[in-house]
This record gives sequence, structure tokens and C-alpha cells, in this order.
Amino acid sequence: MQGVLRVRVLGSAAGGGFPQWNCACGNCTLVRAGDERVVQRTQDSIAISANGQRWLIINASPDVLRQIEQFSPLWPQSARHTPIAAIALTNGDLDHVLGLLSLRESQPLAVLATEPVRAGLIERNAMLRTLARSADHVQWRSLVLGNELLLDDVGVAIRPVAVPGKLPEHLTGITRPSPEDNVALRIRALESGKTAIVATAVGSLDGIDAVVAGADVSSSMAHFGPRTSSSRSAWDAHARGRWRTCPLGATKVALRGWLFRCSLQRA
Ligand SMILES: [Zn+2]
Repeated sequence: MQGVLRVRVLGSAAGGGFPQWNCACGNCTLVRAGDERVVQRTQDSIAISANGQRWLIINASPDVLRQIEQFSPLWPQSARHTPIAAIALTNGDLDHVLGLLSLRESQPLAVLATEPVRAGLIERNAMLRTLARSADHVQWRSLVLGNELLLDDVGVAIRPVAVPGKLPEHLTGITRPSPEDNVALRIRALESGKTAIVATAVGSLDGIDAVVAGADVSSSMAHFGPRTSSSRSAWDAHARGRWRTCPLGATKVALRGWLFRCSLQRA
């Protein structure tokens, strides 16, 4: 079906997932006990397609294999095939990139990242060389702030926007921070013009209005914790009455896999 932007939340937990392996907080204990008020969640990732045939995956967490198996449109159609046309990275955090190492079966991949994110992975991490078995194994395509990159086969254009964030832990003190370290992605369906914003790991709400302006759907995942200036209540207050938000941070909401079309409008 044309004219639709399909957005599938593959996972909606912060790094570590839910429950987290080394956590026995109230919520993690409830989910291990099978309490129906909570549901297991994998680490944040989103699949987007304008045609339902070829898909863009945003971030590859360590849960990516499980997430693919839980969403049949991402299953291969023949012996060596994948409907995944490209993987876009919003930053170089391990919980957004470790899944790349699970997708290494000599399958040609296109990975979209800003130059600092690409360099931080490839030039500083020998393990990532496993994704370069052949010259055409992984094709890195550069996301440049403010520029749209066309993905014709997915039916979308993708544009990175700088958002507050930080260097991944493993690069802190090694490389210089850059506005390109952490980006939100504006995904525009070429045919319908429907636009989705995917903003993961937003470190602060400063300037978020400009980031989400004009979008039909915003799936913004701020990291709520003492390390950031965001708080869930601040985010809720910001969104209330302006956006019909998807409560991705709420552990009481079942988000194991819901699919919505870009029919959500600004509230
Ligand atoms: Zn916990």
C-alpha cells in the first residue's frame, strides 16, 4: 500500500532491556514473577517502511535477532535474503550498535551513520572489521546534519538532526565530542510526505520543539535517569496537549509489538 508510513517499534527499553540482567528493582522483579502489569521489553529499535517490502531499521541492539524473529515482515523470502534495506544509527552507544555484529553472515548491509559515529566504530574497534569480510559487505553511507538521504527502495528519505547527547562510554576521553555524536532522524515517506521522528537517547529537552516540528508521528525516547537532565515528568509535561505520545518509557504498557500507521496527528 502506498501513501502509508509503517512504523514498528521493535523494542522500547533503554540499554540493558527489561528486565535488566543485574537488576532486582521492583519492576524487574515483577516481570520475572510474571506479573501481568508489566511486560518484558527489548532494547530500543524501530523499523520503518513506506512500502512494506523493504525496511529501514533504526539502531541495532543486542536484541536485534530476537526482534527480527518477532516481526515477520523482516523475515527472509529466500535462502539468502533480507527485507532489511539499511540500518541507521542514531549514535555509537553499544546498545545501538552491538547488534551489527549479530548480522554479519556475509549479508551485504547498508549502514547509515554520521561520520564521527562511523569513525568511532570502524577506526577504534577491531571487532567491527568482522563486518568487512569482502569489499562490498557493508556499505557505509554518511548521514550529514541537515541533508536528506534518499532510500528509494524503502520509499523514504532520512535526515539527521543533532540532539543533545553524549559520546558513547567507550569513546569518552578518546575522541572530541561533536554535534554529530547523537542525532534524531526525520523519516519522510517519499510518496505521502508523512513524517516520523525517531529520537533516541535525547539528553535534554532543550530545543526538542524544533526537532519534532511538523512530524506526523514522534517516537522520542529520552533516557530518564540521573545522568541526564530529562525526567519523565518533564517529558510528559512537554508533550501534554501537543502530542499524542506513545508511552514508551512506561513499564506498565504492553509494547511488545504494536504497529501503527502514520494516521496519528498532533493532538
Ligand atoms: Zn530493574
